[in-house]
Amino acid sequence: MKSIVIGSGFGGIAAALRLRAKSHDVTLIEKQPDLGGRARVFRRNGFIFDGGPTVITAPYLINELFELFQKDPKDYIKLSPLKIWYQFIFEDKSKFNYSGNETEMKNQIEKLSYEDVKGYEELVNFTKKIFDKGFTELADIPFDNPFVMMRQLPALLKLKSYKSVYSLVSTYIKNEKLRRVLSMHPLLVGGNPFTTTSIYGLILYLEKKWGIHYTMGGTGNIIKGFEKLMNETGIKIVKGNEVIKINSNNNKITGVKLKNHTNIDADNVICNADPPGIYEKLLNESKNRSFLFKWKKKRMEYSMGLFVYYFGTKKIYNNVEHHTIKFGNKYEDHLEDIFNKKKLNNDISYYLHRPSATDKSMAPEGNDCFYVLVPVPNNQSGIDWHIEGEKMKNLVVDKMEKDLMPNLKANIVEDFYLTPDYFENDLNTKFGSGFSIQPKFTQSAYFRFHNKSEVYNGLYFVGAGTHPGAGVPGVLSSAKVLDKIL
Ligand SMILES: Cc1cc2nc3c(=O)[nH]c(=O)nc-3n(C[C@H](O)[C@H](O)[C@H](O)COP(=O)(O)OP(=O)(O)OC[C@H]3O[C@@H](n4cnc5c(N)ncnc54)[C@H](O)[C@@H]3O)c2cc1C
Repeated sequence: MKSIVIGSGFGGIAAALRLRAKSHDVTLIEKQPDLGGRARVFRRNGFIFDGGPTVITAPYLINELFELFQKDPKDYIKLSPLKIWYQFIFEDKSKFNYSGNETEMKNQIEKLSYEDVKGYEELVNFTKKIFDKGFTELADIPFDNPFVMMRQLPALLKLKSYKSVYSLVSTYIKNEKLRRVLSMHPLLVGGNPFTTTSIYGLILYLEKKWGIHYTMGGTGNIIKGFEKLMNETGIKIVKGNEVIKINSNNNKITGVKLKNHTNIDADNVICNADPPGIYEKLLNESKNRSFLFKWKKKRMEYSMGLFVYYFGTKKIYNNVEHHTIKFGNKYEDHLEDIFNKKKLNNDISYYLHRPSATDKSMAPEGNDCFYVLVPVPNNQSGIDWHIEGEKMKNLVVDKMEKDLMPNLKANIVEDFYLTPDYFENDLNTKFGSGFSIQPKFTQSAYFRFHNKSEVYNGLYFVGAGTHPGAGVPGVLSSAKVLDKIL
């Protein structure tokens, strides 16, 4: 069986490996000159900048790809658990160290709001129930017919999936700071906590179950380990060549055409690239006859865009934790502006990554390595990033200087940034969204782009835009769905 995988994000690589383990003849094709997609690595003057994912959860999903070939993952990657998972900073400069240490968690909760300790315990118990259903049971099953969805509806309603994550958390927690901390998880997969279905509350429990990890050498080292494994197992890798057409005959996929005009035949094409772009640009859109499918695609709502500023400093900021999340004052309004009104707001919230807090090899000796991520509107906004990019950089540097990094501007020795334009033009993501379509209830499971195309035979999807959704555990699970359908 000949299978082609388009795209080398975590989902694409996992699909290639899983199909190879089933003896498929696999070719992986990547537009960029290097592998990883959102997890690509940028190296600048001794600094190693992981492009995207930094919080590694559910490591078993990574390990089992090596184990498929009886390899020991430790020969390829070194995962290290973190003690403090996130340090949250509020506008009044107070801090909350979020971790897997339940005693320390409860002590801090008690200081903020005594009555919320019990609510926290009840919330964790409830998210376990969501996790058991939404992750353990449903993350890697194919939702390719409506009956599978209908069978799950009673259980999903019982788990209050009609509520948003923020609203679910608020039923247990009174303190506003704690509400923000305990409901922020949808942001990690491209959703607004105020509108994302409470099913995504499962991430809170998923982190507690397996912890939060860092890969020594950076997340890019996982991709490097996978590339070695793919070479050892005979997967053909084509880099720096874009698929410009998926060939088909009477709705049966027959192969792909590359930008260099080569045609490659295949029995199956597995797309790791963003599904809407695949349907619109690589396939004959007029053949997508189903009215229902057209309607579903048209009404899709896309996740926010990301502004990511990578920088190295000649000063070491020992006061900055590995992962920091700073909430702006008008947090909810800011998210409303980004997700719905599609406009910028100066009262930003941001996530700051400092891998050199754990791993000195990420920066030259005596230097520190960072990226800061600011959620921004996706490109449906019409924002001109050639103008706004520099302004956003100055805004976030000013904020970080005031919040926790004195004299930052004067200490930056290396920097560059990416905007939604990069995600749209370089990674082929519709509207340059950071995480494909949003994780809303009406865009989850059966309502998402199906793992087995509802339009073409021999066409499959893995990655953020398909079931179960974005985030490294999500896209690795999407490749597990393939095991059941291909
Ligand atoms: C800044 C940032 C931080 C994040 N942080 C975290 C985190 O801490 N933890 C976490 O779990 N998740 C995180 N995420 C989310 C996570 O990184 C993504 O959901 C996941 O990596 C997406 O993987 P994917 O399989 O969907 O493929 P992608 O990474 O989207 O890769 C798709 C690939 O397809 C290629 N491609 C597209 N079109 C074509 C074509 N026509 N021909 C050939 N190749 C093509 C693209 O070049 C790209 O390489 C983060 C994301 C971002 C952007």
